[in-house]
Amino acid sequence: MEILKLVNQSYPISNTYRPTNLVQDPITKIWLVREAFEQFYKMNNALQKEGLSSLYMISGYRSYAYQQSLCAKKEELGFTNIAKEGYSEHQLGIALDLVTSSVINNNRDSILSFANFNSKSLQAFDVTFHKQWLDMKSADFGFILRYPFDKFYITGVSYKPYHYRYVGVNHAKKIVKNDLCLEEYIKLYSNMRYF
Ligand SMILES: [Zn+2]
Repeated sequence: MEILKLVNQSYPISNTYRPTNLVQDPITKIWLVREAFEQFYKMNNALQKEGLSSLYMISGYRSYAYQQSLCAKKEELGFTNIAKEGYSEHQLGIALDLVTSSVINNNRDSILSFANFNSKSLQAFDVTFHKQWLDMKSADFGFILRYPFDKFYITGVSYKPYHYRYVGVNHAKKIVKNDLCLEEYIKLYSNMRYF
C-alpha cells in the first residue's frame, strides 16, 4: 500500500495500477485495502458506541475501467464532480465514500452502490452529526477529509464532505493538527523528513 501516494489532476494513476491486499466487504461487496478496511470498521464501531447510527461505505476501490464506466454515464447518474478515469484516488483502494442510513432510506433504491447516489444526496452528509464526529475523530483512525471546502484552490476538487482517504494514524493526525490537505502535507513531508 502506498499510503501517501498522490492522485490528482497533476498526478494521474496508471490504468494498470491495482492495489495489493484488497479485501471485499461481505455485505456491501465493496473492495478496500485490508488496513483501511479494518480501520474503517474500528471507526464505525467507535462512532456507534457514542450513540450514532452506523456509517455506510458506498464506494471504495474502483478500477480504472469502472471509473471510466461511471464517467460515461455521469449525466444520467447525476454526478456533477466525478474524476475522470486515471485521476480518481479510488483506484488506490484507500479512499472511501460514506453515507448515513437516512440518505440510503431516501434513495430511490437502497442498494449500496455508488452509482445509485447522485452528487446532491452525497453532499447531504455535510449536515450530519456523523460528519461532525469525523471532523474530530477520523484522524485517530487514520482517515482524512480529502477535499475540504477551504482547500479547493489547492486540491482542484470541490468540497466533498463524504469522501475520506486513509493515510494511517500518524500522518492523519499531523495533517489535521496542522490544517493541511494531502497536497500540502506531501510537499512539506518530502522537504522535511522529520516533520
Ligand atoms: Zn469518493
